[in-house]
Amino acid sequence: MEGCLACDLSEGRRELPGGTVYSGGYWLVEPCVGPLSVGTLIVKPRRHITHIWELNAEEAAELGPLLVRVSAVINELTQPDQVYACLWSHADWEPGHIHFVLQPVWKEQQTEHPLPGPMLQVEMFRANQAPERALAEDFAERARALMHQG
Ligand SMILES: [Zn+2]
Repeated sequence: MEGCLACDLSEGRRELPGGTVYSGGYWLVEPCVGPLSVGTLIVKPRRHITHIWELNAEEAAELGPLLVRVSAVINELTQPDQVYACLWSHADWEPGHIHFVLQPVWKEQQTEHPLPGPMLQVEMFRANQAPERALAEDFAERARALMHQG
């Protein structure tokens, strides 16, 4: 759908730094374009759907194993203490193209951000520091290689 950020990124109407990391039958994996840590990946359905309940059986079947695989790749490349997996897709109180955010988190981040979980994300979005492009592109390339080995 034109004008949807998720569709515009995957259909090439907006630039995606680092490019598509993995293209599955029903899901795409891309670097996160928001101000979260390098290593954060997005898992989103190819179809423009705005609610989890709209997933069909094939989309649902591919999702679980893909979330596991993508978090394993993030773990291998960034050695985090945790990989968050969350889905809000509700900007300005409007349902948007659903996308899981898979974000690596390290306990060292507590020196800058005392609270983990959603508070960490709130603070990172408020700070609004885009990931360094060269690092993000390098991560995307290594993640793509690992995703294609599996
Ligand atoms: Zn869309």
